[in-house]
Amino acid sequence: MICNIAMDIDALPFSSRYFFPGFEQGDLFVRSTDSLIFALDSCLVMTAAGYIPFDYLYSLIPGIADLHYDSATLCWVFNFIRCAEYSAIENLHFHQLKCIASAANTFGFHSLQILCRLALRCFKNQYPKEILMLAVECGYHSLLPTLAGTDLIDVPLASLEDILKDPSIYRAWSLFRDHRIAALDCVKGHHATVHAGPNCVTWASEAATTYLKLERPSMMDPSRIRQAFEPRGNLPACCLSALECWRKDAEEIVQNLPTFSVILF
Ligand SMILES: [Zn+2]
Repeated sequence: MICNIAMDIDALPFSSRYFFPGFEQGDLFVRSTDSLIFALDSCLVMTAAGYIPFDYLYSLIPGIADLHYDSATLCWVFNFIRCAEYSAIENLHFHQLKCIASAANTFGFHSLQILCRLALRCFKNQYPKEILMLAVECGYHSLLPTLAGTDLIDVPLASLEDILKDPSIYRAWSLFRDHRIAALDCVKGHHATVHAGPNCVTWASEAATTYLKLERPSMMDPSRIRQAFEPRGNLPACCLSALECWRKDAEEIVQNLPTFSVILF
């Protein structure tokens, strides 16, 4: 296969100015969307992917595969697989990281996929929707439980239908959200039973405030549920005790919710 697509660099009708700087030597040729050519070592590509992942069937220039990534993305990716100097992945902007993660998946560069998966987690709260899209399209499924733990779970399912295209992922996301919504209702219902006396005016007000904090499914997370039960100010002992009791009930309900991983896998 390599013999069929490998070309002598001298046989190409291009001067070195068409090559991306630093990528002039190699037996495998690809081209970026901004029309720069990368010459690569086929052995290195084989080592990274286990096969040659470039499609030469529809090349505009015979022997040069047209890739759907710009030269900045390809430079980073190819420098990674040849262990050359590249900017640290944690210093990349999200858009750059997203393109690299997509390319790593397209080319089957497994070690880079693992690195991207870890780096993408750092952006989970800033770009949850974009990461969800990438996770579904590019098979980064281990990111799904992380994303389900963000505010993205508060977004109505109808708004994510275009992204959750995989039926099993759609089902898992939907079920996970439904469990949390049901848990919210269950937790809310406890406000009527946790206060010792029936006629405490302070409790009526405090319970109403707490009630309002229990509107979003994302609150039904072990890391967040405590926040809903922070007292507003100085409460009488009866209300503090009731709030504490309500919090414990809520934490128990949340602890017993199925995790996203359990539902999906
Ligand atoms: Zn009270």
